[in-house]
Amino acid sequence: MNEELWNRTISQIKNSLPESEFSSWFTRIFLGGEDKGKVTLYVPSNFVKDRVEAVYKELIENTLSELGESTYTVSFEVKKDAKNQSNIIKSTETQKSEPSNQTQEQKTQKPARQSAEDMMFNPSYTFESFVPGDNSSFAYSACMAIAKNPGSAYNPCLLYGGVGLGKTHLIQSIGNYIRKNTKLKVVYVTAENFTNEYIQSINENKSQQFKNKYRKVSVLLIDDIHFLQNKNETQNELFNTFNDLYDTGRQIVFTCDRPVEELKNISDRLRSRFERGLNIDLLPPDYETRVAILRKKCQEKNVEFSSEVIDYIASNISSNVRALESCLTKLIAYCQLLNKDISLDIAKEQLRHIISSNNDTSGISIDLIIKAVSNYFNVSPYDIKGKNKNQSIVLPRQIAMYLCRKLTDFSTTEIGYEFGGKNHTTVMYNVQKVEARLKSSEKEINNIIEKLETQIKLEARKK
Ligand code: ADP
Ligand code: MG
Repeated sequence: MNEELWNRTISQIKNSLPESEFSSWFTRIFLGGEDKGKVTLYVPSNFVKDRVEAVYKELIENTLSELGESTYTVSFEVKKDAKNQSNIIKSTETQKSEPSNQTQEQKTQKPARQSAEDMMFNPSYTFESFVPGDNSSFAYSACMAIAKNPGSAYNPCLLYGGVGLGKTHLIQSIGNYIRKNTKLKVVYVTAENFTNEYIQSINENKSQQFKNKYRKVSVLLIDDIHFLQNKNETQNELFNTFNDLYDTGRQIVFTCDRPVEELKNISDRLRSRFERGLNIDLLPPDYETRVAILRKKCQEKNVEFSSEVIDYIASNISSNVRALESCLTKLIAYCQLLNKDISLDIAKEQLRHIISSNNDTSGISIDLIIKAVSNYFNVSPYDIKGKNKNQSIVLPRQIAMYLCRKLTDFSTTEIGYEFGGKNHTTVMYNVQKVEARLKSSEKEINNIIEKLETQIKLEARKK
């Protein structure tokens, strides 16, 4: 195995994970070596090792094996001075945040010294790197006001809007700003992690530590609260945390993928807390803003594309900034791997899939897909979303996840959430299973998927 395969693996994983998640973990994994299919990866600390082993090992192995077309297994080794040899994954953020007068040794040791708090924040999510447009200038200004004066004007604040519109970017910008300019204690957590930590604290008799962590902060940022639907115990805990913080004038900011009134199975008292204060929606960016965002991202990544390529992307992708970014990532990987400039024709060819899946599929929801698949196989949507490992349900579940990935723009995290709160790596794993079967040209599966796809697109058009 060579470094080029590792780079391609990392590029592919980068495209499939939210950027914040990718840069939290994958910029800390370095290729050590390989022997007869056994790949050694270096990580800077036991903390990173435990996490990547638990969550990403399978994904890395699957991706390596898929791209390298032979079987690879992966093991992790802690190596404090491990160095990243890859150009592609060197994130501009990491480079920027390290002053240039550091010695090489200091640079390479940095990840090992990062605190747990540093790990929560993606340094690239700042107000400077966010491009406000008509769709987002109110949200942008409110977040800026909160960052400059936490706990006073807009407390609590809830940002809501569709996938990939910058909610995580903005809520993290608040945290990064406050951390840079004050000594206030800021905690960022996704509702999913909040839930996991809460459950773990109960299992390990550490409720007091959990309470201390969340009730002693000056600013609490909770991302994706739609995840708390149906989680009664965690809702209770958050309700109490909220009251504690709110009563003592501390700042709370939430994000959600839908307006609060559309949340289901949330207790009335918690709902009323979410609705208190300021609720702001983020809308999709208009054409000019999309162009401005693309230009800014090019600048950050130090690449240049012609106006016609930028115009092509901005005209064809309208509803999701993450999809705009995926287009750039794809073109940049192409440029770097083949060392070629990007003409409009190459861009069209390379982006065909991303763009067509963004165009023809509007109106396709995860629910619609689950319904179509459950009808086809005659199983209930409840089973598809559940945990039953019976083969008669596992296959429909895998196909439903695959179709969600193919026909919608939802991330694996969001899909996992809609499938009964599953982890995004579970979604990835299931999607890959179907992809593998398609690749090996299993006729039956091919036919089923084609049929379902046509039917789902038809249904969506009727709406
Ligand atoms: P959400 O949390 O709403 O799903 P994210 O905050 O994760 O969306 O945004 C998806 C990606 O798009 C991120 O990489 C983010 O930096 C980028 N992004 C979104 N909106 C903007 C914007 N207005 N300017 C610059 N980048 C943006
Ligand atoms: Mg988000």
